[in-house]
Amino acid sequence: MRSSPLPLAALVALASLALACRGADARRTDAPRADAARAEAPRDAASRAADDAPPAAPSADAPDGAPLPDAGDVAPDAGEPPTAFACLAAHYAGRAALGASGWALELPGGARIPYDDGRAKRTADRIASPDIEDTFALGYPTGAIAPVTDPEDDPGRVRVEPLFRATYGASEREVSSALVPVKLAGKTVRFHRRAAPALERVGARLEALLGDEPALGRFLRVLGGTFASRPIAGTERTSAHAWGIAIDIDTSQADYWRSSPKPGWRNRIPQAIVDAFEAEGFVWGGRWFHYDTMHFEYRPELFDGRCRAPRPGR
Ligand SMILES: [Zn+2]
Repeated sequence: MRSSPLPLAALVALASLALACRGADARRTDAPRADAARAEAPRDAASRAADDAPPAAPSADAPDGAPLPDAGDVAPDAGEPPTAFACLAAHYAGRAALGASGWALELPGGARIPYDDGRAKRTADRIASPDIEDTFALGYPTGAIAPVTDPEDDPGRVRVEPLFRATYGASEREVSSALVPVKLAGKTVRFHRRAAPALERVGARLEALLGDEPALGRFLRVLGGTFASRPIAGTERTSAHAWGIAIDIDTSQADYWRSSPKPGWRNRIPQAIVDAFEAEGFVWGGRWFHYDTMHFEYRPELFDGRCRAPRPGR
């Protein structure tokens, strides 16, 4: 408690203001988009609805139903870490640490990734030098596949590499020794043991799908591969394949922005296959302006509602 309490009338006024702000910002808090302009970006109604209703995940609201703090109306609270940290800890290595410049995620080796580095960024900057907050800035849409026409729209391409190295392995040998076999569409692939159970569940979904619609088999006939220690083409950034958490499905049905004969998003992968992966926490490269439609990558934090309501900690 503060030592000099505010008059009751002022407290009541503050409480109503907080409730009003919570109401106005409820949509943004539940499904954060980078800014108002992004929220109004052209998307079909189904996709927008899907944004508002992420896959089954714990509620982003506080357990007791109390309104969540918002950057606009509540002073930063150094006493509590951003809620995203507790969520990240469920999926990755690291713990919350408070330093002179605010909250950071401290990795097992002692390195710290700031929650918010305070820089205003476009998507390319978020991808090149992300803080923790940038991971969640673009959200991740599920639902009906739609052409991606905004160059800023690359949800799931922001990866905090030190966090991935600390979680999945810092070298090819380390990752390689953590790979386990997983059955998928009648084949056996090697996948990181932390992500393997999710891929196994995808496999079960695909098996059921292929039973109903055998024609879908052509998208899974020759898999493009899982583990490969390599950078992302044309960059020095590490590919998710290097951590054993990504899989490329049949390359003969794939489209890739770098090798496309003409500019503009294109895709041949059917909705049912995308849904099967996304339902188990995999992002799909077909949701990206810089599309890579055979690519699926295990990113459970982007489907976990607890991670999607980051608290403005400092
Ligand atoms: Zn890939």
